Amino acid sequence: MNIPRTDLPRVVIIGGGFAGMALARKILKENMQMVMLDRHNYHTFQPLLYQVSTSGLEPDSIAYPLRKITRDDPKCFFRLAEVTSISADSNTIHTSIGDLVYDYLVIATGSKTNFFGNESIEKHGMWMKTVPQALNIRSLILENLEQATITEDPEKRKALLNFVLVGAGPTGVELSGAIAELRNHIVPKDYPDVDPNEMHIHLLEGLDRVLPPMSEHASKKAHKFLDELGVKIHLNTMVESYDGHLVKTNTDLAIKTETFIWSAGVKGAPVKGLNASAMVEKAGRYEVNAFNQVQGYENIFAIGDIALMKTEKFPKGHPMVAQPAIQQGKHLAKNIKHLIRGEKLETFEYYDKGTMATVGRNRAVVDLGKWKFSGFFAWFVWMFVHLWFLVGFRNRTVTFFNWIYNYINYDKAARLIIRPFKGKEETMTMDSDKV
Ligand SMILES: Cc1cc2nc3c(=O)[nH]c(=O)nc-3n(C[C@H](O)[C@H](O)[C@H](O)COP(=O)(O)OP(=O)(O)OC[C@H]3O[C@@H](n4cnc5c(N)ncnc54)[C@H](O)[C@@H]3O)c2cc1C
Repeated sequence: MNIPRTDLPRVVIIGGGFAGMALARKILKENMQMVMLDRHNYHTFQPLLYQVSTSGLEPDSIAYPLRKITRDDPKCFFRLAEVTSISADSNTIHTSIGDLVYDYLVIATGSKTNFFGNESIEKHGMWMKTVPQALNIRSLILENLEQATITEDPEKRKALLNFVLVGAGPTGVELSGAIAELRNHIVPKDYPDVDPNEMHIHLLEGLDRVLPPMSEHASKKAHKFLDELGVKIHLNTMVESYDGHLVKTNTDLAIKTETFIWSAGVKGAPVKGLNASAMVEKAGRYEVNAFNQVQGYENIFAIGDIALMKTEKFPKGHPMVAQPAIQQGKHLAKNIKHLIRGEKLETFEYYDKGTMATVGRNRAVVDLGKWKFSGFFAWFVWMFVHLWFLVGFRNRTVTFFNWIYNYINYDKAARLIIRPFKGKEETMTMDSDKV
């Protein structure tokens, strides 16, 4: 890997997501050698992926080069690599570019899509965890609109103009709201041959309300906002199969569609090699103690989505969202410094800063402890928070001006088919066991 072995303790971080990056930034320039590995050379701001897939933002607005983090400290290294397994006995990780010995290992590999064992969905559906996947969805949506303008067969046209999203969590809600905005504002101008009334957005949810992780207030408001945008919501509806053309559910509902996006669940994305007792099998996450040490290992830590820390308040672990990941990353930085200095470790305490979701332009819902609000002010707060947490001044500036442009012009700047939609065989399966 071309990384010198020095006298300094070596901290290896697998994953430059929210958790890995928060940790790395806090241990730069400390008395240790840090090595970060990721299969991408950039950090992805996943909360805004849906804007890439619906032509609102270019991918480089939501991605940040990981080498920009390590370049400030000559003792720190980034390597573009897939970590394939861990040999804890010899303190070694095995990767696509060779092996590396660690003193402290931090697993921050995040999560991957959970299909709950449904093979037809995994084979034919789309999901959105990475920039290439979001771009693929963008191409698919735009190509289907192009096809719809020239298709004479009414049944085929119907399927091209039906957009089915499964899972009404924040991703499903935000994505369906954004596709509805596309239909309401872009399609009438760009695709005069397509009747927007023929374009239907279906949001399917197995539970009895949208945004199940949020408050009742947020659910009701989001439901109302989606109704106003013309999204068809199907609650208590479980998808049984999708064969690439037809969605079948556990109710009478069956929908012909060429666009089926699965956002109904995630599970951890572990790396092979640790003892089975370190894993909570169903969740695919490593069980960690209050210091983020993986069960059974003293020098291996897990942070972010991949870590399951059971506490009194969170008996099933913290929610798999950005804040616990960021907070655990920062906290572990303190503890690694303590370890190196031979000091006592501090336990992690999660501070819940609230949850929010946006539903098209001008509308959002926010839960901030007992304070719950929605509508324009909530949307404003949502925008501010997302800009604040976007990594990098350039990204913030570009995103800010893009949003202003889109807002004033009712336009979407990035509706380009740069590379045609690629089917599963070419792209998604490539990532399917990883992402
Ligand atoms: C579409 C979408 C929308 C979301 N919206 C929100 C939101 O609005 N608010 C919110 O709080 N949260 C949201 N989340 C969840 C949030 O993004 C995650 O909780 C957060 O990213 C977790 O951070 P992490 O560091 O644990 O993992 P990640 O950010 O996923 O980072 C993991 C990193 O590890 C790398 N990696 C994984 N395995 C390997 C390997 N074997 N070898 C090398 N590299 C590897 C990956 O490439 C990635 O860079 C959303 C997630 C998605 C997918």
